[in-house]
Amino acid sequence: MHSDRDPIAAIATAPGRGGIGVVRVSGADLAPVIDGLLGPAAARLAPRRALYAAFLDAAGQPLDRGLALLFPAPRSYTGETVLELQGHGGPVVLGLLLARCLQAGAALGLRVAEPGEFTRRAFLNDRIDLAQAEAVADLIDAATAAAARSAARSLAGEFSAAVEALARELTELRTLIEATLDFPEEEIDFLQAADARGRLAALAAQQADIERRSHQGALLREGLNVVLVGAPNVGKSSLLNALAGEEVAIVTPIAGTTRDRIAQPIQVHGIPVNAIDTAGLRATDDEVEKLGIARALAEIERADVVLHLVDATAPVADEEVLAQVRARTAPGVPLLTVFNKIDLIGEKPRAQGERVWLSAKTGNGLDGLQEALLAAAGWERDTGAEDVFLARARHLQALAATREHLERAQALIEGGYAAAQLELFAEELRLAGAALGAITGAVTADDLLGQIFSRFCIGK
Ligand code: GDP
Repeated sequence: MHSDRDPIAAIATAPGRGGIGVVRVSGADLAPVIDGLLGPAAARLAPRRALYAAFLDAAGQPLDRGLALLFPAPRSYTGETVLELQGHGGPVVLGLLLARCLQAGAALGLRVAEPGEFTRRAFLNDRIDLAQAEAVADLIDAATAAAARSAARSLAGEFSAAVEALARELTELRTLIEATLDFPEEEIDFLQAADARGRLAALAAQQADIERRSHQGALLREGLNVVLVGAPNVGKSSLLNALAGEEVAIVTPIAGTTRDRIAQPIQVHGIPVNAIDTAGLRATDDEVEKLGIARALAEIERADVVLHLVDATAPVADEEVLAQVRARTAPGVPLLTVFNKIDLIGEKPRAQGERVWLSAKTGNGLDGLQEALLAAAGWERDTGAEDVFLARARHLQALAATREHLERAQALIEGGYAAAQLELFAEELRLAGAALGAITGAVTADDLLGQIFSRFCIGK
């Protein structure tokens, strides 16, 4: 097990060739690395000022030339002293530069950083909280511009600030309740004057707003799994192509040609959508096709929305297929029925509740489908990406736990303060606060930290 005190180094830029590549070093004392790499030029290295210099090998020969930047503790990304060497972005030259740093820092115990270790230190040294640390990874992994904007806002601390404001007010109310416990004869008047019930209602409303915005953000972060099902030749591949705006699936007029699922990441109004075209579900003796059908049925289990595609020119009952699908989707997963090929029968494109009429060929009615898709998944169009918090599953769990404790607290004082068990009331408020604390890392188990930071890329 590595220590959080070892000095660490890593290549911070993506592997491969690029104009510039960065090696980053972080530790309490980097003097041997600075002196070893820069030689006499080290004397000219001033905090937060770029110094153009040669990076030297052990024999004093230049390995590369570039910019050296020094961020003395604590005003750095990690909160420790950080040295950045910006050289040329080739894998070999950066590998040599990293090896040279490790050699120069050997006496310090300098080692290669684990994935996410720079950010882990930023968290441990209170430079950022846990939700912000996660936002760093989310920004790097963002699949759409809207997700990137939202991650950048979480990184700036907007999500943390909202959560902390709620936690602070929870603590205030709890302190108030606990104070009254010491003076039982005055407690009822006191709670009435302080409007404990009104304040709790306001807290619950604040919590609901954060939870709603987080659910929207989770959608933006995770994307939607959309499964296209329907009989062969109804136009599933064509619809997928139309949604993706490019040719991704093979379209042929021969029934049963889409033998395997094709997952294609597309965007619908900035929401990442993983559209899965399934093999035509039908009875068959073809072994390969049977495999495709088995895979299709497995995909249906992970679907957020199912699109059942029907040929509007020859609507068939599809009862058997639908029964198969319904048996496999999770409870509550919406199923939209899409009538395709309306161009052939002169039907108007429209969307009515869970039914949509369109033409994959002409694109008529596609926008209606996109709207219906997002609505079915619970995306509020008015929300705007600026309004959402790019939440993770663990954030949603913490918010749900907070809500449950607030609801129990509300139930406890429903019948008036006189009959209420105020110790239990205070305890529910404490538990609600503790659940919230898990989001920013105010209350965090060590194994959770390991889980979060090990998913980062090296050098971050
Ligand atoms: P799949 O087997 O469900 O994936 O169906 P395909 O996407 O391969 O389409 C089967 C046939 O229907 C192809 O010849 C398509 O060109 C045709 N098709 C698909 N959508 C439309 C549509 O909206 N209008 C018309 N006229 N033909 C379509």
